[in-house]
Amino acid sequence: MSKACVVCGASAMPNSNLCERCENEIARRIWNPIPGRCPVCGSRVRGRKKYCGQVCYHIGSNIRQKEAYYRQAKQQRKVHSGSRLDEHIRKSRELGISYGMYMAKLRGDSV
Ligand SMILES: [Zn+2]
Ligand SMILES: [Zn+2]
Repeated sequence: MSKACVVCGASAMPNSNLCERCENEIARRIWNPIPGRCPVCGSRVRGRKKYCGQVCYHIGSNIRQKEAYYRQAKQQRKVHSGSRLDEHIRKSRELGISYGMYMAKLRGDSV
């Protein structure tokens, strides 16, 4: 049997205490926090604390870790494909031809 989401009671995702909808919603609030509000449950927080209590703190830090991991993975993919494109553009500039011509040359060289 699957666990229930601690926020709304819907069935939670595997390895999580939250359903997908609540996790996305909380993640959004963590990255765009409202001052004085707990990003997990939305209740008022006193002073400079971020979360209203231990339970929300744990939920929040779990999501932060997950999100940081996703973001990093996304960024690495972007950097990787970007650097290859940059390389092609740089080479085509060196040869004094357009990027399109350079790519056509690359494909045509073996013919
Ligand atoms: Zn939920
Ligand atoms: Zn809370």
